[in-house]
Amino acid sequence: MKPIVPSAKDYHEKHPPSEMKNQTTMLDLKEVFQYSPLAFYATDSEGLLTFFNESAVKLFGEMPKPGSEMHIHSWKLFYSDGTPMPVEDCPMTKCLTQGKAYENSKMAVEGTDGNISQLLVFSRPVLTTDGKVKGAYHTMVDITPHHKTDLKQETLSAIVDSSDDAVISKDLDGTIISWNRGAEKIFGYTEAEIIGKPMRILIPENRRNDEELLLNKIRKGKGIDHFETIRKHKNGQEIPISLTISPIKDGKGEIVGASKVARDISERLKGEEKQAVLSAIVESSDDAIISKNLNGIILSWNKGAEQIFGYSDEETLGKPVTMLIPSDRYAEEDLILEKVRSGGRVDHFETVRMHKSGKNIFVSLTVSPIRDSTGKTIGASKIARDISAQVKAKEEIARHTRNLEILNALGKSISRKMDVQAVLQQVTNATTQLSGAEFGAFFYNVASEKGDSFQLSAISGVSPESFQGIEMPGISDLFLPTYQGTAVIRNNDLTQEDTLEQNQYRGFLRQLQVKSYLAVPVVSPSGDVLGGLFLGHSKSSRFTAEHEDLVTNIAAQAAITLDNSKLFERVTALSDKKDEFIALASHELRTPLTTINGYLQMLAKTEKDKISELFLNKSLYQVNKLNTLVEDLLNMSRIEAGRMEFNTEDFDLCDLLREVTQTFSYTTKTHKLIHKLGNKPAIVHADKQRIEQAINNLMSNAIKYSPKADKVYLKLFMNQQGEVEVAIKDEGIGLSPEQQKKLFSRFYRAGNHKGISGLGLGLYLTKQIIDRHEGRLHLKSESGKGSEFIFTLPLATGQGAENVDN
Ligand code: ADP
Repeated sequence: MKPIVPSAKDYHEKHPPSEMKNQTTMLDLKEVFQYSPLAFYATDSEGLLTFFNESAVKLFGEMPKPGSEMHIHSWKLFYSDGTPMPVEDCPMTKCLTQGKAYENSKMAVEGTDGNISQLLVFSRPVLTTDGKVKGAYHTMVDITPHHKTDLKQETLSAIVDSSDDAVISKDLDGTIISWNRGAEKIFGYTEAEIIGKPMRILIPENRRNDEELLLNKIRKGKGIDHFETIRKHKNGQEIPISLTISPIKDGKGEIVGASKVARDISERLKGEEKQAVLSAIVESSDDAIISKNLNGIILSWNKGAEQIFGYSDEETLGKPVTMLIPSDRYAEEDLILEKVRSGGRVDHFETVRMHKSGKNIFVSLTVSPIRDSTGKTIGASKIARDISAQVKAKEEIARHTRNLEILNALGKSISRKMDVQAVLQQVTNATTQLSGAEFGAFFYNVASEKGDSFQLSAISGVSPESFQGIEMPGISDLFLPTYQGTAVIRNNDLTQEDTLEQNQYRGFLRQLQVKSYLAVPVVSPSGDVLGGLFLGHSKSSRFTAEHEDLVTNIAAQAAITLDNSKLFERVTALSDKKDEFIALASHELRTPLTTINGYLQMLAKTEKDKISELFLNKSLYQVNKLNTLVEDLLNMSRIEAGRMEFNTEDFDLCDLLREVTQTFSYTTKTHKLIHKLGNKPAIVHADKQRIEQAINNLMSNAIKYSPKADKVYLKLFMNQQGEVEVAIKDEGIGLSPEQQKKLFSRFYRAGNHKGISGLGLGLYLTKQIIDRHEGRLHLKSESGKGSEFIFTLPLATGQGAENVDN
């Protein structure tokens, strides 16, 4: 129950003013109004001023004109938060229009001087007995100073309320007095749950002592700044926080509690952890990790960078990154920076950078933009990996591949070549190229009965003119091991050789300014020194053990080929001599044979007895056989010498074959000829005599090599290509596939033919004849079963296949 306070009105009714004699009178009261610190004024029902006191004049800012001026004077009106207020909405107007009292209404007014005053307005209407508005009294309290304090308070509360940090206050016993939304967010308790509870509930058991220590500090009036500790969430989870605690003092300056601002630093700690891990990675990386700004100034430098480039971080930080770039590659950096500035990145760009020592290093670069929190590119990070080893390995592989290719090509071509000069040149070229020599020379041993003699036979790397006028190396200590085939000589700098006498370093070595020298003898498997390979370079230490091995191996391979070539040359020379002899002998034999034949024929025409006739016939037969042999030899020599002549004409091959079959029946008693020739002409353009010779060869072979058979087959027909084909078949001894391969070589006879005479020239000649007529000779044969030789000839122009019977 509220105590009943007696009203002032009641008091004045009981004590009329007359009782207040010598005290304050009504007139005095008017005075009181006049000088009241509160602004007071009265208006009529229209709102025009009828009365005002001093404080009101002060508030208006000037003396108003009563009866003509409104209650709001010349003020601009605002709500207390600063938004403009329409006149109809101000409490003074509303009191008049509604006849209602407005009390404790807050508003603000701006005077002509521009000052704003915050007012607490009390407007009361004065009513007639019938309830009409006669006028009103308005009292205004200037609360501007209070308003400012309120505003500050409100702002502070708003700040506290909207803060993400927990802002908590507690008394000196550690009881929580206030709790903001940030605290709710961080610790999970609502304000209602926690106010009045001990601060302890936020502190993990093992840190309870902390709180006591903190409170002691606070009691002594000390604050605590950014103390990092652990607190406990409602759900029991621990939260890392940073605390700032300040004592709260009362009006008398006594410490009554503490305010506590707690910031959740889990994210920051996570960030720091991440940062620490990243830093560790950067520091422990073998790659150079460098950052630079957009002007190319180095901002960071790790250990990897120190290892790769040789500079410490003190030597590089703040310096332009161009200190790592060879001057001929500056343009690269401009391109990279341009790309990074536009937000792009450069991936695995292989280039060359420079070590502190000035040495070039092969690196693979990856450059990415560094952006600030707004996404703006502010620099670049650069990862450089030293790929010198890879580049070297790659070059090594490429060099080996190239060497292998050269060796392979050389091996293939020299093993095929029988031409000594070509082999010498190729070997010199290859060894010069593979050893990186400036020049290479092959001194070939043109040994004769007089002894060894080494001749400059191939040069590589320099023009032959460079050797003109150069004194050729004589036999001196330097060259001797090469010429004698005893050792390989490899010298890094001939000019530095003390033991080398001046006269040895002369001639072509001096004129070619040779410093690096490699000389490898070329010795045949049988031990003959075939020559020496000399390689030179005007710079020192150019030839390695690897070069020496390479050249030695090639020299060994070349020696075999050269040996073979020599042998081949010798065989060719012998073969040429043999051909010469055959040509000469057969030519010489032919004349006496023709004469003998002539005399025997004349003798045949004379009277003779039976015995003489028998001997004469036998002689004639043998002379004929001898004649054929000599003819074959002569023809062979002509073919080999390219002098076999052909007299071609159009003739009917069918006719020719018919003649052959007739002769066959006279001369052959052992075999019967079965032929199928058809009766249409097969006109060919050929040398009739040679074709007859070819047919006779094949026919006589068919008989000769089928001693146990009694039939031979002859066939003429057109094949699908429109050529005429002649097939001669027997049922004789046949030929194995191996024998068939060699069948058309000179002097080849398949097997040991006892009692069957021959030189092995017939098929060779036949093949040559058919080939020269643009025909083909081939066979089908099986050992023990028989053979079929077939030759084709093109028909003479204008001769269609329809002319011939199939
Ligand atoms: P030659 O008959 O004078 O020995 P050829 O050049 O005519 O010479 O024949 C070469 C070789 O081919 C013969 O020695 C023989 O071994 C083989 N030959 C040729 N024709 C036949 C055939 N019809 N049947 C089996 N072997 C044959």
